Amino acid sequence: LDVIRRVEPRVADAIAAEITDQRASLKLIASENYASPAVLLAMGNWLSDKYAEGTIGRRFYAGCRNVDTVEALAAEHARELFGADHAYVQPHSGIDANLVAFWAVLAQKVEAPALARAGARHVNDLTEADWSALRRELGDQRMLGMSLDAGGHLTHGFRPNISGKMFEQRSYGTDPATGLLDYDAVRAAAREFRPLILMAGYSAYPRKVNFRIMREIADEVGATLMVDMAHFAGLVAGKVFTGDFDPVPHANIVTTTTHKSLRGPRGGMVLCDEALAEHVDRGCPMVLGGPLPNVMAAKAVALAEARQPDFRTYAQRIVDNAAALAEGLTRRGAALVTGGTDNHLVLIDVTGYGLTGRQAEEALLDSGIVTNRNAVPRDPNGAWYTSGVRVGTPALTTRGLGTAEMDETADLIHTVLTAAEPGTTAAGAPSKAKYTLEPKIAESVAGRAADL
Ligand code: PLP
Repeated sequence: LDVIRRVEPRVADAIAAEITDQRASLKLIASENYASPAVLLAMGNWLSDKYAEGTIGRRFYAGCRNVDTVEALAAEHARELFGADHAYVQPHSGIDANLVAFWAVLAQKVEAPALARAGARHVNDLTEADWSALRRELGDQRMLGMSLDAGGHLTHGFRPNISGKMFEQRSYGTDPATGLLDYDAVRAAAREFRPLILMAGYSAYPRKVNFRIMREIADEVGATLMVDMAHFAGLVAGKVFTGDFDPVPHANIVTTTTHKSLRGPRGGMVLCDEALAEHVDRGCPMVLGGPLPNVMAAKAVALAEARQPDFRTYAQRIVDNAAALAEGLTRRGAALVTGGTDNHLVLIDVTGYGLTGRQAEEALLDSGIVTNRNAVPRDPNGAWYTSGVRVGTPALTTRGLGTAEMDETADLIHTVLTAAEPGTTAAGAPSKAKYTLEPKIAESVAGRAADL
């Protein structure tokens, strides 16, 4: 930090403050974790200075032998860990990984047949008329994904995101009575809509998904099954999600982030079968520029860590802790979407506490508990204020907390949500954002949170 302080002390101060914040509060954001020192050091070094557009052994720049080494190691660890035919480790983020995957499927199923029809080897060889026709055909494709309020991600076809603009999109939700994914409803929607891509995966659905059934549905309608396992990749790596619940043997293409339950650097990755590999490897120049060699090095380190036996223990503890947290909350009277969890996250419906998600999130933050507000299915408060708070256990599990501490954590959350009251605007009208909470309650909870 002293080296940074000499150049820009405010940055050094922010880093130091962040370390304190992340240690003194309870980090319950389901998509966050604590990367190991080995991962952090692999990321912060001279590899960062290298340009390496292209793929391993086929770069558009000279002097890439060390980048080739780290990229090949990351890909090899990913293939071995997940049992995938092919791994592409260049995407800078989860969104980038999804973009690579979308365009790889479009290249395989739309562009390649169009080139074959025109007798061309490359898009540059197409006539202007054939090129226009291909661009229209690319724009006509469909995707079926989980709706945002049921727990899907904005890249799964949400209109404000590019995925909702690239594809004609339709979404499937969850059963209003149980909150669970209704496979018959997904099948019916797929039969009617005939998507190019059937998308599975989630950011806020607290249950497992049966990918064998999703593949059956995709095959029946001729769709490509794409699974975005960004949230639960660590549970797949740690062999908690196996058989029907492991997406890799069932999906045609799988994307993930590397920084959530997988506990690596911030970044993305694509796994796929052989048939898609050549298209996925064109991620650069299709939608990516130069990869981040330092981050690929950190991915290699994190994936090597995830191949160690103790990562399986870690993954099992994540779900045990989430179950204990859900149980502790339910016992105290909290309402949980789907009534519980069988993955790493719990979605609390805070309407029973008389709060919006925004009020609950702020009250918890002021009490040393970091969460994020999240829509619940058919949320009356919309995606900004919401009616839910999402909590997850990957980070606290890394810190060594166990099921007893999860019960204490449930008590802290329930104490704050019970004590917080909706606030009013300056003009005295009811506010969806403001809340009141007695400072002594916030202080006492923050003290107990710091002790954990
Ligand atoms: N996919 C899912 C399911 C996610 O939950 C997220 C992030 O929250 C992403 C993709 C996007 O990842 P990133 O923030 O790295 O772009």
